[in-house]
Formats: sequence, structure tokens, C-alpha cells
Amino acid sequence: MPDPALSRPNDELQRLAALHALHLLDTGSSEDLDNITRLCHSLFGVNGAYVSLIDADRQWVKSQSGPDMCAPSRELSFCDHTVSQRALMVVEDATLDARFADNPLVSGPPHIRFYVGAPLLTPEGHAIGALCITDTVPRTFDAAQRKQLQQLAALAMSQMLLRRAIGRVDPLTAMPNKYQLREDLASLVPADSALQEAEPGTRALAYIDMPDAHTSFEIGSVLGSRIHDELIRNVGARLQTLVQGQADVYHISDGRFALLSHAGKAEQLAGHLRGMTAALEQPVDSMAVPMNLPSYGGIVSVVQTREQLRDAPRKAVAALHEALARRQRWADYDADADVMHQRRFRLLNDIPDALLPERQQGGGLALVYQPKLDLRSNRYHGGEALLRWQHHELGPISPAEFIPLVERTALIRPVSEWVIQAALQQMATWKDEGMPVKLAINLAAPNFEESDLIGRLERGCRDSGIDPAMVEIECTEGVWMHSPAVLKLLHEIRALGMGLALDDFGTGYSNFAYLQQVPASVVKIDQSLIRHLDSSARDRRIVQSLIALAKELDYHIVAEGVETAQTLELLRAWGVDEAQGYYMARPLTPEAFSAHVRAAA
Ligand code: C2E
Ligand code: MG
Ligand code: MG
Repeated sequence: MPDPALSRPNDELQRLAALHALHLLDTGSSEDLDNITRLCHSLFGVNGAYVSLIDADRQWVKSQSGPDMCAPSRELSFCDHTVSQRALMVVEDATLDARFADNPLVSGPPHIRFYVGAPLLTPEGHAIGALCITDTVPRTFDAAQRKQLQQLAALAMSQMLLRRAIGRVDPLTAMPNKYQLREDLASLVPADSALQEAEPGTRALAYIDMPDAHTSFEIGSVLGSRIHDELIRNVGARLQTLVQGQADVYHISDGRFALLSHAGKAEQLAGHLRGMTAALEQPVDSMAVPMNLPSYGGIVSVVQTREQLRDAPRKAVAALHEALARRQRWADYDADADVMHQRRFRLLNDIPDALLPERQQGGGLALVYQPKLDLRSNRYHGGEALLRWQHHELGPISPAEFIPLVERTALIRPVSEWVIQAALQQMATWKDEGMPVKLAINLAAPNFEESDLIGRLERGCRDSGIDPAMVEIECTEGVWMHSPAVLKLLHEIRALGMGLALDDFGTGYSNFAYLQQVPASVVKIDQSLIRHLDSSARDRRIVQSLIALAKELDYHIVAEGVETAQTLELLRAWGVDEAQGYYMARPLTPEAFSAHVRAAA
């Protein structure tokens, strides 16, 4: 028996690609197609009318008017013959046709005797299925009827194409959109890599923001949406002209466009884009208003494999974000930066999980405590609570890595709330054990914009039975603290009785005129200044004058990052109040902390 696959036309792969590109197989029924089959049913007075699509090894009935007459098997399908012929096929009596006489659909139920199928032809000429009518009695079909069925098949095909087009074109620019891009990228995968002897080609994909989202928003809100829309249309048209013959242009969103290089043009396009600065900088007209628009672009080159093509948009966006962050016109995709971004994304994504109560047994957040030595009494009265994250898969993550990320998101609120509660609970435990400990808690700048922070701190102290005077809030100084609302909140923290420490003091902003408005009680001289005291005369001078100034302003002075006995003695001699650092102790678990503190008592 001949292998049916071998007898299929040699454009079968392209035919299947055309069928799959229409994405009809995975969609539900369509009222438009149902109208056409209903019309055929009544117009020709037959038993049933169908729209069937012929896939690699089966037939799909997309619309049906009349009883079930079609089997899913491609081998038994009448329409497969119509598809192979790519022309109208009329079978007036199947029992008299050698091709079908033995077909079980003819010899047995549903007893097909009459069939006419008109192929559904794509604009490229691929037959993806058929519009067919069937009956259980033999019939004739005249020339006028044949023509009508063919016309209805063409109508069905255009309905399918139209359905496809909607949702793949941007309504503003009438340019193909991101769904079309995704599909075009997918279609670049060689149909069967085993058949492809040549190396897969390379494509360049560029994402361009012109203008960037912020500028676009401003133009829309200041000049109105008509000017804005016209502008975006003109940017699209300009990009199309600039890369004509080298790339296709897609409108992704608002001011964002994508360029996908044509076959063999990847390198040329990347070079061309870099060279078109002047063309991009030309003012763009909108309703006769010329405007200079900023543009930023990210470029990635990918080999035409399934994985690389699928990842291309994400990589192009990563490169674009790099360009936007650096405010430069173009950025190439950088795998290292991408790994870093993905890690950041992963960490942020996993923070909510780390906050879950069940994670407290492991794989979540925990506090460690670093003792602070009182240099007058040589005793430990307190310590600093420092956050640790044992990620369930990535292992320990330093707060220096994840806090700066969390700070930029709304997650900083629950994270800091977790820290406050955990620290207060630990203080209550130590208090119950007869060892009251003064604890410093780190909060991040955005926390001081939470209007209910004071209420939460107050309630936390009350619920855990902790005197607010035993709590010190640490924050790094910065311009942020001079907003009236923040200053008010800082005063309220002090009014509650809590201490307020300026962390990392001496590293950044330190505008003393402003600092006096901040009701801080403590300054913590940063470890970067303390670390080289033994060896650097310059650092000794800086620290000495910082200390003198802080004393003048009546601050309690803490030095952090004390790593040697020599440093400790210098600081003691200069009148520092407390010292914290690896020389005395590293950040410790609660048990190790209390053991350390008791040993020195
Ligand atoms: P920080 O508040 O300035 O904390 C001091 C950092 O210096 C801690 O790093 C501590 O382990 C480290 N350190 C202490 N003594 C020494 C020493 O002698 N030598 C050296 N080389 N390092 C020393 P850690 O725990 O990695 O924390 C880093 C930063 O992360 C903290 O700096 C703080 O800004 C932030 N952070 C930690 N925990 C929290 C938290 O609960 N909330 C917030 N918002 N930020 C936190
Ligand atoms: Mg601190
Ligand atoms: Mg610090």
C-alpha cells in the first residue's frame, strides 16, 4: 500500500505552516463560518455542509450544518482529496468512484454517496481545507452550483484570514503588533531541522522607544491625545522608511517599536541602526508641530533556533532597559547583565514567599544581632538587628543585595514590618530571660513615608511589653529626610521615646546645616572610614574631625566596622561612645548574642 505521506504534494510542509499560522485549530467555533455552512446546507438542499481543515494526520471540522458525516482520520477524509487537487472535487456517487467505493464512510454509516468540496485557498495558494457538502443519496451538481460553492469557499477563507488579522494589527498605526512579531519569530524556526543541512541563519531584533514612556505620557497629557497619536504614527512611518528592505517594523505599544531583520541582513541592520542617529534626531511632525523626540534602542542577534527566537523579545527588552537606564541611544544585549536582572527579578519575586510564617523554620528571613560595646563601661548594653535571608534554592542572600532592590518596591513595607515584629519579639524574650537589650533596627527611606509607621511602632512596643526607649531606629541620611512629612515622622519617632541613628555617617550627603533639622540622637560613623584608621593618617584626621563635630552637636557616637584592637583604642581615646565590629563580635544568632553579652557582664 503506498505511503500516503509520500504521495502528498511536496509543498506539504509549507501548507501545514500556512494552516498553523492561522491558529484556527485551537480556537472555538465561529458564527461567521456557521452562517456559511448553514447557507450551503439550505442553498444546495443537501444533507450536510462542513468546513474542514486538513492537518498533518487528521481532519478538523471547524463548522458543521447537518449530521456528523466526517471522520477525524485524514486517510478516510474526502476533503483531503480536494486539498491534494487544490480544485473543486465533485463525487456524484461515491459507490461508483474507485477512490471511495471501499471507504468505510461510504460502505457503512453515515453512508456518504454524494460529495462536493471546494478548497480553502490561502492568498499564497495553499489549500488548508475545504468547504464541502455531502448527502446520502447520489446527486448531480451543475456548473452554476459549482461556481457558487467556490465563491462561498472563498468567502469562508476570507473570514478566517480576517479573524486572524484582527488582533495582529495595531489599531493606531495599522502596523503589525507584538502578536504578529511573536508569530513571525516562531515561523523562522526551520520546519524540520533534520531536513535542514545548512546552518541556521541569524536575525537581529531591535526594540526602540521613540519617545520613551515618560516623554510619551507628557506629550499626551500636555498636547492631547490627537497630537500624541499622530506623532506615534509618524514615528512608525519614519522607522519603516529608514529600514526598508532590511527589516520589518512592528508597533509593540505606545512609543515602542520592534525591528526584525530580513534573512541575511542581521549584521547590516545592526550597523545601519547605529548609523542613523541624524535621521532619528530629525524633528517628527504632528499636526504641523515639529517635535524633537528622544529615542532609545536595544539590539540582540539570535540564531534561528526555537529557543533563541522565543527568547529574542525578552532579550531585546532587556537591552532596551539597559539603554534607558544609561540614557544612551543604543545598547546591545548583554548576557551577564541579563543574568543579573533575572536574579534580581527572581529575588523580588521570592520575597513574599520568604515572609510566609511557614518559612520561618528555614528558607525564609531571620535576624542576627551584632553586639555594640559601650566604651566607657566595657559592657554590652545593646546591639543591631541585621536581616538575613536563607533562600530555599539560592542559599544565603546578603541584605546588601536584596534590600536595595526591595527598597524600590512596595515590598519594603511588609519586609520592614517583619523586621520590626521579629526584633521586638526577640527583645521581649531577652527581657524575660533577665537580660534587657537595647536594639537598633534598620528601616529604609520609603518606610518613613508610611503614615501609619508611628502607630505600628507604638503598638508593637505595647504588645511586646518593650519600652520604646530601648529601641533605636537606624536610617541612612539623605535628601529624602528633609521633606516636611518625613521630618514630622522622625520627630514623632523621637517623641515616642525611641532613638534615631544616622547610619553610614560620613559617606554621603552630610550637609550639616540640614542635618540640624533632623532630630537624630545617634550618628554611626561608617565602616569605610573606620576600616583604615590603623594605616591611613588621612582617615584618622577625617574621623577625628567628624567625632569633634558630632560631639559639638551632642550626638551619641557609634563607630561601626571595628576590626582591630588598635582601632578600638583610637576610637576610645577620641571619645566615641560605642563600637561595633568583627573585632568584638560578628552578627550572631540570638543564643550566641546572649552568651557573648553575658560573658562580658
Ligand atoms: P548597616 O546597617 O550599616 O550594617 C552594618 C553592616 O556591616 C552589616 O552588614 C554588618 O554585618 C557589617 N559589619 C559589622 N561589623 C563589621 C566589620 O567589622 N567589618 C566589616 N567588613 N563589616 C562589618 P550586613 O548585615 O551585610 O548588612 C548590610 C546592610 O544591609 C546594612 O548596613 C543595612 O544597610 C542593610 N540591612 C541589614 N539589615 C537590614 C534590615 O533589617 N532592614 C533594612 N532596611 N536594611 C538592613
Ligand atoms: Mg545599620
Ligand atoms: Mg552602616
